[in-house]
Amino acid sequence: MEIEPVIGLEIHTELSTQSKMFCSCSTRFGSSPNTQVCPVCLGLPGVLPVVNEEAVRIGIKTCLALNCKINKYTRFDRKNYYYPDLPKNYQISQQYIPIGVDGWVEFEVGEEVKRVRIHNIHLEEDAGKNVHEEGKNFSLVDLNRAGIPLLEIVTYPDMHSMEEVNSFMNELRNILIYIGASNCKMEEGHLRFEANVSVRRKGDEELGPKVEMKNLNSFRSVLQALEYEIERQGARLRRGEPIYQETRLWNEEKGESFTMRFKEEAQDYRYFPEPDIPPLEIGKTWIEEIKATLPELPLKKKKRFIEEYGLSKKEAGILVEEKEISCFFEEVVKICPQPRLVVNWIMGPLMRELNERGLTIGESKLTATKLARLLEMVKENLITQTNAKYCLHEIFDSGEEPERIVEKRGWKQVTDVEEIEKMVREAIQKNPRAVEDINKGKKTAFGFLIGQVMKLSQGKANPGKVREILERELGKC
Ligand code: ADP
Ligand code: MG
Ligand code: ZN
Repeated sequence: MEIEPVIGLEIHTELSTQSKMFCSCSTRFGSSPNTQVCPVCLGLPGVLPVVNEEAVRIGIKTCLALNCKINKYTRFDRKNYYYPDLPKNYQISQQYIPIGVDGWVEFEVGEEVKRVRIHNIHLEEDAGKNVHEEGKNFSLVDLNRAGIPLLEIVTYPDMHSMEEVNSFMNELRNILIYIGASNCKMEEGHLRFEANVSVRRKGDEELGPKVEMKNLNSFRSVLQALEYEIERQGARLRRGEPIYQETRLWNEEKGESFTMRFKEEAQDYRYFPEPDIPPLEIGKTWIEEIKATLPELPLKKKKRFIEEYGLSKKEAGILVEEKEISCFFEEVVKICPQPRLVVNWIMGPLMRELNERGLTIGESKLTATKLARLLEMVKENLITQTNAKYCLHEIFDSGEEPERIVEKRGWKQVTDVEEIEKMVREAIQKNPRAVEDINKGKKTAFGFLIGQVMKLSQGKANPGKVREILERELGKC
C-alpha cells in the first residue's frame, strides 16, 4: 500500500521588537534571569496591557509578505491555562479574529515551484521559561521571555514530503529575515514549530486523524519527528490498526515521540475576548504605508538574478540565501559590472574568509567598494588571482584600501613581454633536465617550468603570458 503523509505546520516566531508585546520591558536575549520584567509581564493584579504598535506593524508586514488578507478589525483573546511560566494564568492571543487569513507561500522544491496555503497569522505573547538544572530536585522560572511578541503562522495541511517541509521552512525563515520580522536565530528560540501530521492511502481524498507534535525547536527536529511519526502511523495503517488523534512530545535525545494527551483530554482554554484591550482597527493607509516598505522577496530576487546577471540557479540561490550577501553582490556589481567574476569571488574566497572568521559581511572590514576595486584590478590583469586572494585576506585583516596593499606588497602584475622573456630564459637555463623531459613528452615538466618562472617573478608575472612565451622559447630549443 502506498502511503501519503499530510503535513501542516504551526510556526511561532519571536518578533524583533525592542520591547515586549504589552509592556515596555526589553526583549534582549541572554540577560540575567528576571531582570527584564515589570508588573504587566509578571502578571500582577490590576495592571493594564498596552499593545506594542511595532509588533502589530510587523504582523501586518508579515501578512502582506505571505499574501494574507488583513482583517480590518482584529481583536485579542484570552487563552486560559495554568503553568508556572505563565504567571497571569492566561496568554493573550488571537483566536477568533486573527490579524491575517488566507495567504500562501511559494517556494522551490527541486525544479518545481510549490505553494503552501496559510490558514491564519495571529499575534500573541511568549511565555516564560522553566529552567530545570541538572541534579536539582526543583525548577526555576525565568520570566524575561514572558510577554515577548510572537507571531503564529498556521498553514493548511498542504505538504506531503520531507523535501517540501524542509524547503517551506527555509523559504519562510528567509522571508521573515528579509522583511525584518524576526532574526530567526534558532539557537535563541526565535523559531519554534508544531508539526501536524496524518497519513492516508495514496489517492484517498479524506484526511486521517492528525497527530500534533510539540516541542520542535529546529528544522532538524521537525524533520526527524515527522519521519518518525509518518513511519509509526504508516505501519499502523498498513496493519489495519486505528490511529488516534493526539498530541505527542518529541524527545530529541531519544529520537522518539511520546503521547502527551489524546483528543478526549484536550485542554479547554475557555477563550474569551480580552477585556483590557480594545479591538484594533487597521486602516487602509497604514496597510499601504507598510506595503511600501516590503523589500523584494527571496524567490523573486533569485529569478531576477538569473535573468539580469545570467547567474545559474545554484549561484542565484546561494546569493539570495542571505539577504546581506545578495545586497552586497548587487552593490559590487554596480561598481564593477562583471557579475560572473563577482559571484565567483563571493562564493569562493569571500565566503571562505567569512566562515573562517565567523563574521557576517557587515561585521567585517570589507566593503562593496573595496571588493569592486580589487576585482577591477583582477579584470585588468593588474594583479594575479593568487595575489588578489592574499589582498582580500589583508583587507579582512586591516581594512586597508586594495590599491595600497598591492602597492605596498609589490603585487602589481608583470605583463611586460620583455621582462617575462628574461625570466623565461633564466628558468630554461637553470633547468636543463626539465627541458629534456619536455622534449621527451613529459607534460608535468612544462607546469614545473611555469612554476619556476612565477617564482622568479615573485608571483607577479601574468600566468597566461608566461605560458605563451615559454611555449615560444621552448620551440626555439
Ligand atoms: P486544532 O483545532 O487542533 O488546532 P486545526 O484545524 O486548527 O487544528 O489545525 C492545526 C494544524 O493542523 C494546521 O496547521 C493544519 O494544517 C493541520 N491539520 C489539520 N488537520 C490535519 C490533518 N488531518 N492532517 C495533517 N495536518 C492537519
Ligand atoms: Mg492548534
Ligand atoms: Zn514587562
